[in-house]
Amino acid sequence: MSHPRPPARALLFVAALACAPGCERSRPPPSVLLVSLDTVSALHLEAFGGRASIPTLDRLGETGRLFTAATTPWPETGPAHWSAMTGVLPEAHGQVWLRKDSASTAPTLAELAAAGGWATGAFIGGYTLTREESGIDRGFQTWDQGHLMDPAYTETSDPQTSAKGLFVRRRAGEVVDSALAWTGSQTGPYFSFVHLFNAHFPYAPDAPERFGPVSSTLPADPLAREERLRAARDGVLQLTPDELQAAALLYEAGIAELDAALEALVEGVGCAPGAGACDVIIVVMADHGESFAPEYPFNHRGALTPEVLRVPLVIAGPGVEAGPDPRAASLLDLAPTIAGQLGLAQQYPAPAVDLLNGTLPGDRVLVARTNPFDAEQAFGAHRGPSLALLSSDHHSVLWADGSAVHHGAPMDQAEIDAALGVYRTQLADALERSPKMGGPMPQPFGSKPSHRLTPTGMVRVGPMRGSGPQGRGRPPGSPVPGGGGGAPPGGGPSGAQR
Ligand SMILES: [Zn+2]
Repeated sequence: MSHPRPPARALLFVAALACAPGCERSRPPPSVLLVSLDTVSALHLEAFGGRASIPTLDRLGETGRLFTAATTPWPETGPAHWSAMTGVLPEAHGQVWLRKDSASTAPTLAELAAAGGWATGAFIGGYTLTREESGIDRGFQTWDQGHLMDPAYTETSDPQTSAKGLFVRRRAGEVVDSALAWTGSQTGPYFSFVHLFNAHFPYAPDAPERFGPVSSTLPADPLAREERLRAARDGVLQLTPDELQAAALLYEAGIAELDAALEALVEGVGCAPGAGACDVIIVVMADHGESFAPEYPFNHRGALTPEVLRVPLVIAGPGVEAGPDPRAASLLDLAPTIAGQLGLAQQYPAPAVDLLNGTLPGDRVLVARTNPFDAEQAFGAHRGPSLALLSSDHHSVLWADGSAVHHGAPMDQAEIDAALGVYRTQLADALERSPKMGGPMPQPFGSKPSHRLTPTGMVRVGPMRGSGPQGRGRPPGSPVPGGGGGAPPGGGPSGAQR
């Protein structure tokens, strides 16, 4: 089975201009500004009860649709962005960080938009989403990653694990300037993707002193500070609660600084408040959050806590009905939703849905996973990949050893069995559509003997374990300081973020 090919370029805007008999279409096709705030956890934002303030995002959420229960399907930069761009389950993209590409041949939003006549441009702020690392430049006519890499990186085998993480990103202002120079030069509709990395480790905002007494608890020098935080992340040393707090404040300061970038972007594309009619669909997302839990600090890829999985997602623009939307939404939905807004006819496999057209099943249960290709990964006492089941009521993390942590209302066995059954079918379908997969295949959760299968073949839910004081019974939507845990202190996978 393969995806339909993108429409031929000869069909410029035909899809977007298609109009049923009797309808009226006076507007030209809209442009799109898709902004990814890498590593921004929804639970650290004021709108979700956190401390970080992004008033521009709040404003967009008021004039557009704010999805209050949006999650990432895989808390890693490459797979998450690939899923947002294609609507394909991240497992079917394979190990993007090793492949330096996706294994899926499904068309990206950029490919669809370019074929439909939109100008396409991407402006990249973080190393992990560069062309060389992710291959996600497909379909972008303009690709600006402009990284000012420290020369030392070229002499190290892995820039992600060497110090000086400051240099794996471009400052947001530079990325925004480049993006706005491009959008300002367009004479027709465009699809613009802007990736901002300021919130990512090593948490180095431009003006940390504005956000608390950081220097009294962590080294004031950014490189020395990064080394200490990195050692804590890698399990070499343990930080004091004050140091963890200081690191979280720095992270939130980085988030707050993104507001200036977002404000400039919104204004630059002509959609500032009071600017009159705006013909740009503005989408703001994050690919994953970040964990500040003592047992898993300063990382994301090995955790499925609310702090890591819950992401901001806002869609604003002409014709988008305003208001908060509490339904379970996924980054996977962005591809069908944006394609739908542009009138680009494209079939998307489940579970991806168009969030702005049609109805979502009220009992929708989404799946998020840690690396399903790595059976040896560890998180505290747990071994193997973990899987989270996410709905508007539930946030249940299942471990390969059969135990579970419920951050929302507990799921019963029948609900878990049903959700896993649906997921396995969707995963098999996605893998069938991913012809370049090769190598190891993702483990369909609960399929190995070590998963303590029940006679029905479903994962057994054991006693609550390691949920910590913030884990059980926490209502969805409530902030989870520290992320809710999931493993005993002292554990957790180490290594670089991706
Ligand atoms: Zn990321």
